[in-house]
Amino acid sequence: MKFQSIAASLATLIFAASPSMTAPARTDAVPAAQSAVEQPEILVARDDTENPGSEDRFIDTWFPAVKPEAEPENLDDVDTGGPIDAKGIPEVPLDAQYRIERGDTFKAVLLRAGVAPDDADRAIQALTKVYDPKRLQPGIEVFLQLQPHKKSHVPLLVSIDFIADPETDVSVLRESDGSFSATTYERALTPRLAYGRASIRSSLYEAGQEAGVPSAILNGLVNLYSFDVDFQRDVQRGDSFEIVYQRMTDEGGTAVIEGDLMIASMTLSGVKTTLYRFKTKSGYVDYFDQDGQSAQKSLLRTPTDATRISSGFGSRRHPILGYNRVHRGIDFAAPKGTPVYAAGDGVIEKAGRFGSYGNYIRIRHGGGFKTAYAHLRGLANGISEGARVKQRRVIGYVGSTGRSTGPHLHYEVIKNGEQVNPQTLRLASGYRLKGEELADFKKGIGTLTEQLAAFRERTARKEN
Ligand SMILES: [Zn+2]
Repeated sequence: MKFQSIAASLATLIFAASPSMTAPARTDAVPAAQSAVEQPEILVARDDTENPGSEDRFIDTWFPAVKPEAEPENLDDVDTGGPIDAKGIPEVPLDAQYRIERGDTFKAVLLRAGVAPDDADRAIQALTKVYDPKRLQPGIEVFLQLQPHKKSHVPLLVSIDFIADPETDVSVLRESDGSFSATTYERALTPRLAYGRASIRSSLYEAGQEAGVPSAILNGLVNLYSFDVDFQRDVQRGDSFEIVYQRMTDEGGTAVIEGDLMIASMTLSGVKTTLYRFKTKSGYVDYFDQDGQSAQKSLLRTPTDATRISSGFGSRRHPILGYNRVHRGIDFAAPKGTPVYAAGDGVIEKAGRFGSYGNYIRIRHGGGFKTAYAHLRGLANGISEGARVKQRRVIGYVGSTGRSTGPHLHYEVIKNGEQVNPQTLRLASGYRLKGEELADFKKGIGTLTEQLAAFRERTARKEN
């Protein structure tokens, strides 16, 4: 058991010094090569009976601005072990650390470290009892302890340690009789509050990155505000946000999981809206404004990934097509492939090619509302006429099909058969806290506000 604790503490130490593990690379990258301007496709197909507002008079014009995706961090193997020279062998076990690459197996890692194939097989056999080796993901760091053999060049495998997921450590250990045993440990995680604020200079996404806000938290923020905010038109240079959120940290103080947003505040054109996370006694969790009104609405104002919307301000190259008599929808400029969400719960009424709209989806919601999404690159799996969808389900991907000169989402809200301007729409809101719940909530936001004030003070002190 002695090796065990050494290996474990060593693993913790190395892990603590390796923050890159906590920043998973984005997998939804859009190749920059797709940014080339597409020529408008001339289509004569019409279907006026099904599409009361289609006059085919407009051509949606976008000069695409594709946001470059961050390059995934490319760390080389950190290999402090490797084959051991028989001369001048130290008696203490050597440590080796490997970063799992795509297509890697435990066997390959162990053989690379110089372990005998038979030892490797027996260790993996023991491991399989607590962990499915197929779950091994690229990016996982595997820590090995190797005991140099006095005569041969082949070291003995003493232990394997790795973090299987943010909450679980796995350890394989050579017993005194030469057999291997494997154990899983729950990692001790502590919730901590973190703070972020940023002023938007070029885009919300960049502001968030600069402020060091983890992308999961930034996504949470934009999802929360996408009920009310049109992220293409409502966000201006100088607007800002401020957030308090939870992160789970391990024993070394490294954040391993992002928790919940606790307070989210956005100031748009001088108007500040603050939302607070609150759990009612019945277990319902939502975000509410200071009056106890839920942030949820029946339809999203921004039915796409707002972090990927190209900034609509400060550049003459990005004209914003707003709602008018000819252009009866709202456009969101985003890179090709950006997911498009169902604005609300409903049933798919039309899904497929539709004249100048290109690939098109229309959803029927309650209350006489429909929403439509045009110029899509393609539809998501399972999206066909008659399918039921939930709010924010991915239904398709931004493209430039139909009469369009660049990738964007054309979004329409249709009320009682007529396209209406989503910007002026008043929508029914969700839950409202009352009575005792409201009193509990007010008490809760008092505490959160104190925490926010403390963070502000600390940040101000640092800046001075
Ligand atoms: Zn449009």
